[in-house]
Amino acid sequence: MSEPNPFESLQEQIDDAAAYLDIETDVLERLKHPERVLEVNLSIELDDGTLRRFEGFRSQFNGDRGPYKGGIRYHPNVSRDEVKALSGWMAYKCAIVDVPFGGGKGGIVVDPDELSDSELERLTRAYATELRPLVGPDRDIPAPDVNTGQREMNWFKDTYETLERTTAPGVITGKAISSGGSEGRVEATGRSTMIAAREVFEYLGRDITEATVAIQGYGNAGSVGARLIEDLGATVVAVSDSSGGVYDADGLDTRAVKAFKNETGTVSGYGDAEELTNEELLTLDVDVLVPAALENAIDGDLAADVRADVIVEAANGPLTPRADDVLTDRDVHVVPDILANAGGVTVSYFEWVQNRQRFAWTEERVNDELESVITSAFDELVDAYESKDLPNIRTAAYVVATRRIADAYTEGGNWP
Ligand code: GLU
Repeated sequence: MSEPNPFESLQEQIDDAAAYLDIETDVLERLKHPERVLEVNLSIELDDGTLRRFEGFRSQFNGDRGPYKGGIRYHPNVSRDEVKALSGWMAYKCAIVDVPFGGGKGGIVVDPDELSDSELERLTRAYATELRPLVGPDRDIPAPDVNTGQREMNWFKDTYETLERTTAPGVITGKAISSGGSEGRVEATGRSTMIAAREVFEYLGRDITEATVAIQGYGNAGSVGARLIEDLGATVVAVSDSSGGVYDADGLDTRAVKAFKNETGTVSGYGDAEELTNEELLTLDVDVLVPAALENAIDGDLAADVRADVIVEAANGPLTPRADDVLTDRDVHVVPDILANAGGVTVSYFEWVQNRQRFAWTEERVNDELESVITSAFDELVDAYESKDLPNIRTAAYVVATRRIADAYTEGGNWP
């Protein structure tokens, strides 16, 4: 069976929610498609003097609530439909946490491990140059995503500012502090994942300090989420990355695992922990499962074997719609990506606000404001879930978000 297309998954999620909303069919159709998608041809010189072409995209999904917002992904599996789906998830995510942004996403089809630092810099600058007419602090604001971080954001900002002959730190978020980044931004996605896990446990009347947790993916979201969940008092028994996973029934020291990965490139082989595959990790008998890698990690078949009671989605789109159906039937509580990982874009919003004000907040202020945004959004979703008797929290999230975007569109009137 071929992998579900993430763009079709997004459209299915919107349709599931629309069944509980009174929204005109034509308005809904608009909210299921990107406004525009740019495809770029990036030809850069490699260190050996040869030329190589890379394909890149930027999808601007919806701008009814504010400038397009969303990350840039560097991965060999990036495709037009993946970028379209990810840009849509951003639009709904921004609506859930009620930050004044629309949704966008970009990507380059590349394995960054195959390029040198200077080749990556040329590639990033070529991409920024192609995107220049579309982006800007009031138009479209990129950010980090899989395999991109502060370094790439700094290059992007510098390219934009040099070409525009101005200073515009708010053109992109996720920058290094020295280039106008925000305190707390690197940890933000993991932090909202932790808050989501804590809130859902409180909602279920369960004690998170007694919980066992497995985390698939040990990049930024997974490793920070693991550390903060461990700090809550839960026991992180297993973590993995694309090379495989490690398990210790007594709990892993998540910081030591991160240090090991920084040194060796993978979590696999850490200490005396038992080795396990990603599939074994996803079906472990734990209380909480955190998929923090890529889309389609759990399909309908695997969902039948999942033994966790709670899933907190740190990745975007880790469950297929079939997996969602199976897990809903089995009463597994899923905190959806568009809430659980919304800390990233929320602190991006704070970064953008600070850039506009030319005033830097303390880390404490960033974390306090993030805490209040995520907990209020969680309460709103639970309220919708219960009061409208919806099948699961994901549907509640799309009901709340679709309403907000549709209202912004219809109240704005039609142009032309
Ligand atoms: N790439 C992150 C996400 O998927 C962050 C986006 C942003 O900060 O704009 O939510």
